[in-house]
Amino acid sequence: MRKLRADVVVVGGGSTGVGVVRDAAMRGYKAILVDRADLAQGTSGRFHGLLHSGGRYVVSDPESATECAEENAIVTRIQPHAVETTGGLFVVTPHDDPAFGDQFLAGALKAKVPAREIDPALALAREPRLNPGILRAFEVEDGTVDGWQLVWSAAASAQAYGAEILSYHEVVAVERTGEAVTGVRCLNRKTGEDVTIECGFVLNCAGPWAGRIANAAGCQPVDVVPGRGIMVAMAHRLVNTVVNRCIYPADGDILVPIHTVCVIGTTDHPTTDPDHLEIPREEVQQMLDAGEELIPGFRDARAVHAWAGARPLIKDKHVAATDTRHMSRGMSVIDHRERDGLSGLLTIGGGKLTTYRLMAEHIVNAMEEQLGVSHPCRTADEICPGNVPGKTYLITDRLHEREEDRLSDQIICECELMSRSMFIDLLEKFPQASFDDLRRQLRVGMGPCQGGFCSSRIAGLTFEEGAVDIERATGLLRLFLENRWIGLWPILSGDQVRQAALDDWIIQGILDVDHLPHPAKEEI
Ligand SMILES: Cc1cc2nc3c(=O)[nH]c(=O)nc-3n(C[C@H](O)[C@H](O)[C@H](O)COP(=O)(O)OP(=O)(O)OC[C@H]3O[C@@H](n4cnc5c(N)ncnc54)[C@H](O)[C@@H]3O)c2cc1C
Repeated sequence: MRKLRADVVVVGGGSTGVGVVRDAAMRGYKAILVDRADLAQGTSGRFHGLLHSGGRYVVSDPESATECAEENAIVTRIQPHAVETTGGLFVVTPHDDPAFGDQFLAGALKAKVPAREIDPALALAREPRLNPGILRAFEVEDGTVDGWQLVWSAAASAQAYGAEILSYHEVVAVERTGEAVTGVRCLNRKTGEDVTIECGFVLNCAGPWAGRIANAAGCQPVDVVPGRGIMVAMAHRLVNTVVNRCIYPADGDILVPIHTVCVIGTTDHPTTDPDHLEIPREEVQQMLDAGEELIPGFRDARAVHAWAGARPLIKDKHVAATDTRHMSRGMSVIDHRERDGLSGLLTIGGGKLTTYRLMAEHIVNAMEEQLGVSHPCRTADEICPGNVPGKTYLITDRLHEREEDRLSDQIICECELMSRSMFIDLLEKFPQASFDDLRRQLRVGMGPCQGGFCSSRIAGLTFEEGAVDIERATGLLRLFLENRWIGLWPILSGDQVRQAALDDWIIQGILDVDHLPHPAKEEI
């Protein structure tokens, strides 16, 4: 049993949790963050990739719209390398009501979300694949954001201020003495070791799992209603600007260009178990149909991957519990001292990845209110490590880097232009990582071949570097391929079937991966 001590323990290593641990550490608290798996493998790694301008919410949720507009500017300033400033368009297609555009503009003005109407011909000149029948078009300041880069750089900032980040540490109990929290008990899921962290405060940032953490502290049930949404990535960027339909928020009304792909989404259905999110084939078809309305011929492009995430929505008394689409995207902090008579525990829910920094500021302020102290929040003022001020991400960045190092390095993943040294450097930093942990930071295996070519190369490299023995290398490879398959089978049709058949021929036909030696127990 390992014993640690902190002022505050943050549960959950998604965008909210890392924002909170960064804020707490910057205010001088000894803070420890625990996540039951890798950072940003929950909702923050399974979202749509939109850095909201606020435009989406100007009519339905103006308060969230204003927060998004303000935080968009802050995130772009403090974590520019995680953001691509694509800009955004709201378009009225021939299927939509042109009068909604007036409500949209009026709402944007009121919510202080920069927006202006442009000639549809200009929108078409900018995005030639757009539906040529669009009736109206509005320009906004949407961007795209890489959730993994955002989370890892906020975590690095927190560490620079003395915070500890413990991934693969699952909270199994919140300890209390009478009416006060005294610590958390965790299980190290890599080693099986019990870890106890004594602390005076627990900040519950477990997203759609937050209700379980509150239960573990013996509180009344917290009404987190996970809203499941699916997204489908197409093999290349059909647009270079975020394209939204100018309608009241609905399913499949946003197309987001991010890195080498573009992503159509999302659906929104209440679910009970965020650990088991299905990707129904009919929802995939619904998304492809929705894409067709924005971009005629959308279905002719190749869908390469689908995934699902669960919005950590807090039940809203204004709408039915089954209507997650219309629950507020605003954030709420639950004070368990007021609600359950337990001091030292706060839960946060709702919000967006775009507003993660503000969510953190709110919950750390609420903690300080209970403690009767006050330190200024400085998270909007300081740029996170690894960022060059003002240098936002460009799709061409990796190509430039490979042109620079083409004579001294080797490309391991052609789809995502990941080099050998990028892989080896991260493996040296995280020798216990699974290939999916490395994928989230490097994007290896995320392009059109979905790991068909690069996965066996990274298994070979991992073994060659001495990080693992041959059995574990094969175990890691099998696990990686199985996980890729989860997002592949629901979209299999057309060219992607040919690709999957080719991948299978390489992986099974040539390498016979299923029959290579592998550990009896699969990796988590
Ligand atoms: C389909 C969909 C699309 C979205 N699109 C966008 C978008 O385009 N733009 C945008 O701004 N927002 C978007 N969002 C919202 C955004 O993704 C979420 O609001 C945000 O990622 C939530 O982050 P979080 O840190 O609160 O939760 P999470 O990222 O889910 O983090 C919670 C963490 O808690 C950990 N945890 C759970 N149980 C335990 C335990 N017992 N012990 C330790 N750790 C535990 C989990 O492993 C997880 O890492 C979208 C959401 C969905 C579902």
